[in-house]
This record gives sequence, C-alpha cells and structure tokens, in this order.
Amino acid sequence: MIELRNVIKSYPVANDELVVLKDINLSITAGEFVAIMGPSGSGKSTLMNIIGCLDQPTSGEYFLHDKRVSDYDEKELAGVRNQSVGFVFQQFQLLPRLTALQNVELPMIYGGISKKERLERAADALDKVGLKDRIDHLPNELSGGQKQRVAIARAIVNEPSIILADEPTGALDTKTGKQIMEMFTLLNKEGTTVILVTHEAEVASYASRTVFVRDGELTTADEVVGQDALAKLRATHEEDIAVDVNTTTMQSSTLTEGLVDLANVFETDTSPHEKITKEGEEEAKN
Ligand code: ADP
Ligand code: MG
Repeated sequence: MIELRNVIKSYPVANDELVVLKDINLSITAGEFVAIMGPSGSGKSTLMNIIGCLDQPTSGEYFLHDKRVSDYDEKELAGVRNQSVGFVFQQFQLLPRLTALQNVELPMIYGGISKKERLERAADALDKVGLKDRIDHLPNELSGGQKQRVAIARAIVNEPSIILADEPTGALDTKTGKQIMEMFTLLNKEGTTVILVTHEAEVASYASRTVFVRDGELTTADEVVGQDALAKLRATHEEDIAVDVNTTTMQSSTLTEGLVDLANVFETDTSPHEKITKEGEEEAKN
C-alpha cells in the first residue's frame, strides 16, 4: 500500500544542501500498525509529510496504492490528503473559533458533502471517540485529551484507509496518552493502517512494528536496543487491552533496562523548526 524506494529529501540552506532523508526504503502493507521512532530532528516528520503527500521527495519514488505519487496532479494530491489519509498532530491543530462539531465537519466541506450529512457524520465520529456530550464546545473548553479526540474524529470522518499521527500523545499525560493509543488500536483492529511517530517506547509498543530513523536513515530496532524489550511491552499491552480497554494503567515494572536505554537515545525536545515557529508566535505577541 505504501512503498518508498530510495527516497531522498533535501533542503537548500545558504549555499549548501541539508539532506534530511537519506535513501529511505520502506514498505507498509494495508492494515499494519507501524511506529516510527527516532531522536528529535532525525527526519520523522519529514518522512510522515511525504507519506501523507503533504510534501514530495527530492528524489526516489513513492508508491501509494500502487500509484507513483509524483504522477498525481495537485487536484489528485489534495484528494488523497482529504480522502485517503487522516492526520493527527501533537498540538491537535483545531481551529479555535469552531466548535468540536464544526472542526470535525471541515474535511467534509472540502469533500463537497451536504450540510445534513456532514452534521450526522461529524456527530457520529465524535460519538465514536466518546465526545457525544461535548460537540458544541470550543477547543479551549476541552482538555488536552478531549482536543485530541476531536482531532481523531476529524481524521476518521472521511473514513481514510491510513491514519498518520505525528507524536499524538506528546502533549498529553501518560494516562490520557494511553486512552488515545487505545483508540488508535481500535481503529487499526477495524482495518485502518496506522502510522505513528513517537519518542516513547510505551507508545511505540502498541504498534505491531517499529522502525527507527537516525540522521535521516532507517535502522532496525536491534541496532538501537534489543527488540525483546519492545516485544515484552507489546505483550503486556495486548493482555491489558484484552482485560479492559478503559481502565488499564501502564506498569512501570515492564520498563526493562533496554527501554531505559531507549529513553536516553530519544531525547524529547521539540524539533528546531517547531521551536522557530513558537519563537515566531512569541515575537508576534510582543
Ligand atoms: P523530527 O520530526 O524527527 O524531529 P523533522 O523531520 O521535523 O525531524 O526535521 C528533520 C530536519 O530537517 C531538521 O534538522 C529540520 O530542521 C530540517 N527541516 C525540516 N523541514 C525543513 C525545511 N522546510 N527547510 C529546511 N530544513 C528543514
Ligand atoms: Mg517531528
């Protein structure tokens, strides 16, 4: 379903070139749940943007649904972004002046669906993420976890085959993060391909496969830390989820030594351009 061959992404900087992704080869089949881990600035978001057709590789090939993405015209790309892919971001990216319902309606407005159907489907999507009683709330009247649920409802309302989540639990506490991960697990069980970027091993352990980006290159788990540790965590989650999707709590005792190493490898600061954006916003305020 997703296949990247020799994908390179570089940006011109000063009189030089910054190579962010170096020869990425990655295949993801329909129905997979894949976690992408890696240090800040390693190229994870750049990779996600390419997978989601928000950005194009500098060279190499990307096939989505067996079609070469470079052959799509702008209209087809917009269609893919609107219909095939649902995006979830760390900072939710909700429009502040719109209610939860109106935020979830948005992708359907671009999709040209009637008002009546939009309202029904938006309400259904919000119901599915457990926010039936919050549909008329503005984002600033919702908790972080609730905002992310609205963002998930918005991502799934057009029934995409792929969900791309870039650090979706990064701004949430551990318990809320778990609830959000259980939601992605459920969507994946229903057949949606889920690809998620995370710094946290616990979060990655919900996925059935983890790939690592380091300095723009993909490495296997074994090169970073034993895959055993992730497998153990995964087994724990599967049991937990089977017991009770809503009330499980992560046992810190499942954090093996390997995962402590992993936490050290993947520091959690924001990427340079996110920092620049925040600084820009601060400056705009002053
Ligand atoms: P991650 O998500 O792993 O933290 P990113 O993919 O956001 O990393 O960024 C990888 C590198 O690419 C960083 O060094 C970042 O500064 C750089 N980068 C990202 N986007 C651009 C851009 N539009 N122009 C120049 N450099 C960029
Ligand atoms: Mg990023």
